[in-house]
Amino acid sequence: MKTIFEKSTGACGVEVWDIDEKFNIDNFIPSNMLRSDLIGLPQLSELDLMRHYKKLSDRNFCIEKGFYPLGSCTMKYNPKVNELLACLEGFSNLHPLQSDEDSQGALELMYDLQEKLKYITGMDEITLQPAAGAHGELTGMMIVKKYFEVKGEQQRKKVIIPDSAHGTNPASAKMCGFEIVQVKSNSKGQVDINELKSLLDNTVAAIMMTNPNTLGIFEEQVLEISDLMHKNGSLLYYDGANFNAIMGWTNPALMGFDIVHINLHKTFSTPHGGGGPGAGPVGVKGFLKDYLPKPVIKKNSDGKFYRDYDIKHSIGKVRSFYGNFGILVRAYAYILMMGNNLKLASTDAVLNANYIKEKLKGIYELPYDEPCMHEFVLSGEKQHSQGVSTLGIAKRLMDSNCHPPTVYFPLIVHEAIMVEPTESESKTVLDEFVNTMLKIAKEIETNPEEVLKCPKTTPVKKIDETLAARQPNLVFKE
Ligand SMILES: *Cc1c(COP(=O)(O)O)cnc(C)c1O
Repeated sequence: MKTIFEKSTGACGVEVWDIDEKFNIDNFIPSNMLRSDLIGLPQLSELDLMRHYKKLSDRNFCIEKGFYPLGSCTMKYNPKVNELLACLEGFSNLHPLQSDEDSQGALELMYDLQEKLKYITGMDEITLQPAAGAHGELTGMMIVKKYFEVKGEQQRKKVIIPDSAHGTNPASAKMCGFEIVQVKSNSKGQVDINELKSLLDNTVAAIMMTNPNTLGIFEEQVLEISDLMHKNGSLLYYDGANFNAIMGWTNPALMGFDIVHINLHKTFSTPHGGGGPGAGPVGVKGFLKDYLPKPVIKKNSDGKFYRDYDIKHSIGKVRSFYGNFGILVRAYAYILMMGNNLKLASTDAVLNANYIKEKLKGIYELPYDEPCMHEFVLSGEKQHSQGVSTLGIAKRLMDSNCHPPTVYFPLIVHEAIMVEPTESESKTVLDEFVNTMLKIAKEIETNPEEVLKCPKTTPVKKIDETLAARQPNLVFKE
């Protein structure tokens, strides 16, 4: 095979790579593919360019612009100081292949973050590798699988998941080859324990639970459930996406869980990023630490930090290098800044959710009328019967400088509207949201046709959903 580049030895014996003259670009790109005219870049001043980008960014809705009560996502404020710290040269210019010796500061940060997450979750060992909550679930399920393989209990092929669960739970378990068994919720929005009992036998590997669950309700029978599962020889996986509700008050270890993921981009104030730079560290109880992905960051007897690859039954690597390091820096900064106030963050998140729930519950249906944790789920059934579905309510909210809540999830609530205010917001903002929701309910009663025309103020106006689904036009501009 011909090579385009040729190696030679230059001054001081340094190897250099020259482009061989024979392989001039004109010779190996077909002439009909070569540009013959000028590129024609627009001639713009810097000011024109800045205005162009500012205009584009103005089209975007973000937490700096308005209230973002997206249930299940914990859209809390991302402190700007986190960005400053993550951009420090010592962190941002470090190459992941540099030696342990060269990376002591970064390793110490990761080690200490592991320690702090152990303390907060009650787990005995942590991996920082997984890049998202769903990735943490996958990691956890791989650990469950390997654990039972090593134990010689390959017949444990089932994973039990409540019907209120986030869709990533069954997806993650399925990707590991498990069979999914659904357990129903009872009238209080909690796992139906009698049904759970009827599902248990020696083919059950684990249960995946979220607590508080996606209805924002605390599973009061969690200790009984963990007891049942452990007596059955099964493991308990904790989906920690709702950790913002319980920090400092309780932890998954106290509830009897064996494996946990937490979403740094939810509870620990790092940015959400289009499925991009997230982090879903996984914690395990001591008996599972030999199954973690490698490396785990350790400290040796002379206080030096190192990457430990010597993990007996490790499931291998789940991500290149050590995870999203920049995100780990941000979460670490948040934990240090908050200290004991992490408990207060959860307190305020729960208080804020209950405040809004109580204000809205007579006007919108509240299917599970229980004290909620950090979020709650309304049903838009009444408004639907008056001519505007939950989708219409969500679109109407966009005209009030408010991001819509999560809609049509969890699946067990018809016309679901899932609200999570977080602790970041002031009472003024909560009241504005309440008033807007009450106003929308009134508008639906009196003039539903007008509500159906919304949004009118956004860059993209009302779209024809049916036409878009039947004849998708995926061209940006004609
Ligand atoms: C967000 C969420 C997940 C998935 O987390 P990602 O970080 O988005 O992958 C899983 N379960 C629940 C309950 C969630 O809210």
